[in-house]
Amino acid sequence: MEDNGLVLEVHNLKTYFSLIEGTVRAVDGADFVVKRGQTLGVVGESGCGKSVTARSILRIVPHPGRIVEGRILLHRRVHNADSFTMTEVVDLTALNPRGKEIRSIRGAEIAMVFQEPMTSLSPVHTIGTQIMESIILHQGLSQAEARERAVQMLDRAEMPQPGRTVDQYPHELSGGMRQRAMIAMALSCSPSLLIADEPTTALDVTTEAQILELMRELQREFGMAIMYITHDLGVIAEMAEEVVVMYMGKVVERADVDSVFYTPQHPYTRALLKSIPKLGRKSRQRLESIKGSVPDPYSIPVGCPFHPRCPSFIPGTCDREEPQSFQVKPGHNVRCHLYADAGGGE
Ligand code: SF4
Repeated sequence: MEDNGLVLEVHNLKTYFSLIEGTVRAVDGADFVVKRGQTLGVVGESGCGKSVTARSILRIVPHPGRIVEGRILLHRRVHNADSFTMTEVVDLTALNPRGKEIRSIRGAEIAMVFQEPMTSLSPVHTIGTQIMESIILHQGLSQAEARERAVQMLDRAEMPQPGRTVDQYPHELSGGMRQRAMIAMALSCSPSLLIADEPTTALDVTTEAQILELMRELQREFGMAIMYITHDLGVIAEMAEEVVVMYMGKVVERADVDSVFYTPQHPYTRALLKSIPKLGRKSRQRLESIKGSVPDPYSIPVGCPFHPRCPSFIPGTCDREEPQSFQVKPGHNVRCHLYADAGGGE
């Protein structure tokens, strides 16, 4: 098919964890798309399903979680005989999570950068060995070529003294340097999508600003899409073109970044925005000023899951019926009963 400008489509994704205490519906019907070369910001409080969504895409949901419904479509670019760019679509939910095909996609077409690099960097191998492993696996380069590329990528990630750092172990590096190593590793195979899960949360403000600038720069250079997961709306304002707001496993609002910041519609999005000191400024404040707390995942409120905390709660409706997602204008969807008259339910 012709390239439609999308790199990823997620439709009605449900990822549940069956535990003795009950079923946790960590992701419960998420819908969104990621456009080629653009950044999608995914925002919400801890436990809203952001990270499980990312892990579902890469098929690395930890046991006993599993995708119970939905489709995750990766649009791969291929060139046909006439050199026109076409795409082929792969449904990642249909792949064996331990199979060859998803392993060839992980790292090469979709890469991930985590909040804490130590969870994904091996402590017993040098940074260079770990970057080279991915390059040799996905690009079939020789040891010497892979090492050269690893040094180049560390240099592009603005790692100080890349020729020396390549032979160092993760514990010998600072937090910021480890994150640069993760970024170098993630970008070493030029993925079409980079998933960044709170990559700067553990860093000081100055290093965070440098890493964000680096990611933007590398995005321009490599043309990759980024799915940027964070609880920090200040970072979203700096990084994203499109935004998805999640609450209790559901996408409650999705729109372009200006609409989310200047004309937010969902009461939860409005509450999130009120909880940062000033729009457009970086904030490290946790989102604590929203009334109440995130509900117990084993007993999600009936109706709209946000209703016990919502200032616009409609008795008899919000506590009984789960709202659909309504389109309030093209490209702007809100899951809330207040917009039932807007029509365009999904
Ligand atoms: Fe608030 Fe009701 Fe909308 Fe939920 S559906 S966000 S409770 S107004």
